[in-house]
Formats: sequence, structure tokens, C-alpha cells
Amino acid sequence: MENEFLKGRKVLIVEDDQSSRLYLNKILERTGVILLNASDGQEAIDVALKNPDIDIILMDIQLPVIDGYKSTEKIREFMPDVIIIAQTAYGLLGDKEKIIESGFNDYIIKPILSQNLIEKMISNLGKK
Ligand SMILES: [Mg+2]
Repeated sequence: MENEFLKGRKVLIVEDDQSSRLYLNKILERTGVILLNASDGQEAIDVALKNPDIDIILMDIQLPVIDGYKSTEKIREFMPDVIIIAQTAYGLLGDKEKIIESGFNDYIIKPILSQNLIEKMISNLGKK
């Protein structure tokens, strides 16, 4: 369903697993957001550099080339205010502290439920 609060927002999905990436695109397409995609950390940095108007980045932690922590630190250097939400596997829950230290605004645990994701995006936009 189209969402009044999310419609027109630019969202970058960073996920190396293709089926997970397609799933996130499917969930978010119907909210009316503008979607960008990257499948590794370096690509995420490159897409962010070219799109300074991104509102939210959904960053997978385990990524090839450059992982989610390092990519987020790099992106923070030129996008101090963008919302970055980590997507973490259940086993990485212990890394909560590292997630916050690395410059993420928030995190969501996989498997990601659509309602959960949408609520998290809206609450972080509301904090700005
Ligand atoms: Mg991954």
C-alpha cells in the first residue's frame, strides 16, 4: 500500500543476496519510495556519492568487497545526516554495540517482515 510518509523518499537497498534484494524491492515498491540498489559495499558507496539526496540506506552487514560496517563509516564521511539502518542476521545480535559505533541509526533483524521494516523507516524519518 502506498504510504503517505514514505512516498517519494529515496531509498538505497544494499544486499548481496539476490532473492533478499528482490524481496526488499517488492515490499518497498508499493509504498511509493524511489528505489536504488547495490549488491556490495563499494557499489553502495558509489551509488551514495552519485545520489546525495538519498533519505534512507538499508545496509546489509555481511557484504562482499567492503562490509556493511566499513561502507557505513565511509558513507558517513560525506552523508552525515542520511538514515542508515543495518540489516543483521540473528547471529550478529551481539554486534549491536558495534552497529551503533559504526554510525548506523538503527538496525533490523533478518528475516525482515514488511510491516516491521516500514515502521522502522517511518520512525527514523520522524526523528530527523
Ligand atoms: Mg549479505
